[in-house]
Amino acid sequence: MAEPTLAASNALLKALPEFRNEPWADFSVEDNRRAMTEALAAVRAQLGREYELLIAGRRRKAARQFISINPSRPSEVVGVHQRAGEALAVEALEAATAFFPVWKKVPAEERVRMLLRAGELLRRRKFEFEAWEVFEAGKTWPEADADVSEAIDFCEYYARQMLRFAGPIPVPQFPGERDELRYIPLGVGLIIPPWNFPLAILVGMTTSALVAGNTVVLKPSSDTPTIGALFVDVLLEAGFPPEAIQFVTGSGAEVGDRLVVHPKTRFISFTGSKEVGLRINELAAKPQPGQIWIKRVVAEMGGKDAIIVDSEADLDAAVQGVLVSAYGFQGQKCSACSRAIVDQTLYEEFLERFLAKVRAITVGPADDPNNYMGPVINERAMQSILGYIEIGKQEGRLLAGGGRAPGEGYFLEPTVFADVSPRARIFQEEIFGPVLAVTPARDFDHALELANDSEYGLTGSVYSRNREKLARAAEEFHVGNLYFNRKCTGAMVGSHPFGGFNMSGTDSKAGGPDYLLQFLQAKSIGEKLG
Ligand code: NAD
Repeated sequence: MAEPTLAASNALLKALPEFRNEPWADFSVEDNRRAMTEALAAVRAQLGREYELLIAGRRRKAARQFISINPSRPSEVVGVHQRAGEALAVEALEAATAFFPVWKKVPAEERVRMLLRAGELLRRRKFEFEAWEVFEAGKTWPEADADVSEAIDFCEYYARQMLRFAGPIPVPQFPGERDELRYIPLGVGLIIPPWNFPLAILVGMTTSALVAGNTVVLKPSSDTPTIGALFVDVLLEAGFPPEAIQFVTGSGAEVGDRLVVHPKTRFISFTGSKEVGLRINELAAKPQPGQIWIKRVVAEMGGKDAIIVDSEADLDAAVQGVLVSAYGFQGQKCSACSRAIVDQTLYEEFLERFLAKVRAITVGPADDPNNYMGPVINERAMQSILGYIEIGKQEGRLLAGGGRAPGEGYFLEPTVFADVSPRARIFQEEIFGPVLAVTPARDFDHALELANDSEYGLTGSVYSRNREKLARAAEEFHVGNLYFNRKCTGAMVGSHPFGGFNMSGTDSKAGGPDYLLQFLQAKSIGEKLG
């Protein structure tokens, strides 16, 4: 570890402008529309290229390959990727282990400068990355724009946060001693992001670990590996040494376990489903021969997020908030609203106004800006969601949607079930698609009880004009990210540190002031004077 330099990091921190969220593009502005149209054309011309692994600073191929596709047009190949098996995965982990002693000695200020450069490079290529998201993840223009903006935010935010931990932290001095506390990196981190925020979450998880001085093995989701590969190029262009980043594509089920149990894996940073997160947590807990630490697991998992519409709500605002939270990116956000809990005095009126809006939702290819909803991510997801819709038909009153929407892609209709009991599977299980369960509440007490009737605890929102009720919700609505009189999606880096309670995960609070501490360990040094 380089000698920590409090003065250098303070000077750099002072020189940086205060953190601000990257502004979103307004696509009603002609210039932005033109830029995005041009980016889509430029990216379309690059579809189908092959990408390689990055191990020990060298590009590598595997014996087998797989493809990522455009969920709006599944016959269209977006990228051809290497299907690494166990041997290549282990090689990657060993390479990350070998480079750790070098990387951890690079002064924090240098790592921070690299990260700021990465953010700047993303900013310059914003529309291009957004176009890749349209093609590989089925994000509509505004959803892609929000994701790329968030990725830039993570670079800017974690760069600044790292400077807080770069120098010795002042501690009370024990008489006759010089005492200090400094933060040092952990070692090799396994970075396993999901596909649903294919740039933002991958960037946040990767750069937080790297800027803290760890080396990483990054295994992107097999649905969105091209976006991961392109971001690795950004990191290299920004000056990160290639040996610090091992980029390993392949099936999570095939290589995941092997990497998780490897004795040199120091920590695992995971975002994804509850099932995989719990499996990783369990496997990581068992020490392996040669392992000399307890592995740290950061696991951010699913949600079954509720919006309470109280009797004293602004109904139009509530209808709009539930709508965008339930159907934005086809309901494929961990923060998506999948339960609307509506006071019985407003219930029928809410449904009437809500259905009028749901029926106006346009569904189709994500590259067409006239579509509010694009496709769901893949065939398996579509079949799983359709399965839940069939279950819902037994459990609730189907008011809208209920099947596929026309087109070649994995398009589903926005679906609404009313009168859903809290015992229903569609009330309790994460569906991860455009399916909303609406449940009446007798009063505010009952609404809170219903909202908390879940093993998850990620996001939630309350629409009410009554401040006492909001104060009660602040105490009693048990979620990591609670909102009042606004949607329950769209957490902003810095303002809304993100992470859930209970089975939603370890509550790591991505984009918050404590996040980097998970990839650091504190060392206390006390020296007797004289
Ligand atoms: P997933 O669990 O299927 O996959 C996540 C990642 O884990 C992928 O990269 C996958 O390849 C990998 N993986 C699969 N099996 C593995 C194994 N045995 N070992 C190691 N890695 C393995 O989840 P997904 O479909 O990519 O993402 C959707 C899920 O993510 C939803 O449940 C959603 O709620 C959750 N999510 C949570 C947050 C959050 O911050 N809490 C954010 C986004 C998404």
